[in-house]
Amino acid sequence: SDGKAQRDIQFAQPGSLTKVFAIASGKGGVGKSSVTVNLALAMAAQGLKVGVVDADIYGHSVPAMLGVADARPTQVEDLIMPVPTESGVSVISIGMLKPRRDQVVAWRGPMLDRALVQMLADVYWGDLDVLLLDLPPGTGDVAISLGQHLPGAEVVVVTTPQEAAAEVAERAGTMASMMHQRVVGVVENMSFLPCPHCPPEADHRLEVFGAGGGDRVAQTLSQRFGYDVPVLGRIPLDVALREGGDVGAPIVTADPTAPSAQVLRSVAETL
Ligand code: ADP
Repeated sequence: SDGKAQRDIQFAQPGSLTKVFAIASGKGGVGKSSVTVNLALAMAAQGLKVGVVDADIYGHSVPAMLGVADARPTQVEDLIMPVPTESGVSVISIGMLKPRRDQVVAWRGPMLDRALVQMLADVYWGDLDVLLLDLPPGTGDVAISLGQHLPGAEVVVVTTPQEAAAEVAERAGTMASMMHQRVVGVVENMSFLPCPHCPPEADHRLEVFGAGGGDRVAQTLSQRFGYDVPVLGRIPLDVALREGGDVGAPIVTADPTAPSAQVLRSVAETL
């Protein structure tokens, strides 16, 4: 491809049947990508046709989490084919648009905007029920660019219970709202560690990252926007969730009855 967007974006426009969710966070490492891929797989398991755009310019961990770390998209005439995965979810990553994998690209401004439009307009997605976008953390160029191109997208904010994470998550949510995107809810990740030494029925929880971050973001955004922004779920710390991401077999498909997977599946059903 010559890197030029060829077509108009069909997503999130009036009349489009594809629901678009952008997964946002205030800072890195809170589990935004893990939430994105697990929601995608949970939705696919419901029978929905799901696509994922990995727009995280700092990480692009989504392909690896979906088990297609080294895949490159193919091109048919002037269309880019998204990478299919075993689960039926198709994916394109901003990392796949680099000429070479090991190349370091300082994505910014117009080039970044063009890459985003390309992933939305020049990729042959087919008829999707849902498109999930993994945003970079924070309130930078990508959030602005996507706000301009996808004002109809709905935003899910991921935070941990920690005060500092909640504060920056609120800013990311406010940014989305300024771009006329609706914030549909907050997912609190790493909410607690189920005590590994207690009987499960004791339900003893270690609050590794403190408590209250999800509620705080939900309350602040609800007040600020004048509509209800609920906490959609609280995902526990789970070694299996981390391992599943590392080996490309996310928890919702690897072990759908694990407590963390159950929360993620219920969030997917709510959306
Ligand atoms: P982000 O996209 O916000 O940078 P990631 O999804 O890449 O965050 O998660 C960061 C790291 O934390 C990854 O190694 C991931 O597997 C791990 N992780 C995320 N959520 C959980 C959780 N609930 N329990 C255990 N590990 C988690």
